[in-house]
Amino acid sequence: MFSCDYHIHTQLSGCAENDLSVEKIIQYQEEHGIKTIGIADHDYSFQSKVKTIQAARQSIKDADPTIDVYFGVESQMLDYQITSIKIRMASYFDYVLMAPNHYHIRGVARPKNLRDPKRVALHEIYMFEAAIASPITDAVIHPFLLSPDVFQYTPETLAAFAQEMMNNIEHKRLIYQLDLASQRGLGIELTPKIIRFNQPHLVDFYQLCLERDVKLLIGSDAHSIEQLDELSLIEPIIKELGVTEKNLWHPNEANM
Ligand SMILES: [Zn+2]
Ligand SMILES: [Zn+2]
Repeated sequence: MFSCDYHIHTQLSGCAENDLSVEKIIQYQEEHGIKTIGIADHDYSFQSKVKTIQAARQSIKDADPTIDVYFGVESQMLDYQITSIKIRMASYFDYVLMAPNHYHIRGVARPKNLRDPKRVALHEIYMFEAAIASPITDAVIHPFLLSPDVFQYTPETLAAFAQEMMNNIEHKRLIYQLDLASQRGLGIELTPKIIRFNQPHLVDFYQLCLERDVKLLIGSDAHSIEQLDELSLIEPIIKELGVTEKNLWHPNEANM
């Protein structure tokens, strides 16, 4: 299993456990042999205040980690060329994780009809293109992953709907975007949410990412200490896809 996790929330994110401190995460990962991690709270957790961002970065320094700890942020596309944080704010972080489909967040453009897989497909690829095109994006997180909270389907129905949606994504259009992502050195997140949300349609998508030489970002999207272990859920998929170290995205490469 790979020794990195670039999508970890702390108590700063309102949706995370409220005693999930940076110290706790670092201590846990040091004990469990992970070599490199990235803290990535939601951008709105910082209330657009530079001081809050700097304090969060300082808290990592203060924890005096023996592993590499990067300081990232989870941001979202609101629409084409409209990101939830602007370039100046983004520059305070080591990397920006860009979510194309945070439909539960106010201000994010939503598919016109959540019950029509064709409509959802058109919207997903549009937002994916927007995320790839944004100059602040370092990695696109959970693309084409449909959240049960938004779609309100049972796991079985959601899996079938998501597959139908994916079948409606125009292949050439997707390939073109993956080639752009590859050229720009952008990562695409491989997340245990594909298991948690029952989204096996994404295995073919990751296969395509590898074929187009797109780097994969490993991210647990943990909101609690227990969820740090959920990376083990994607081990079978990593094996099946034949992902090796050279396929992995790391922040320093993206910023070089
Ligand atoms: Zn997210
Ligand atoms: Zn997240």
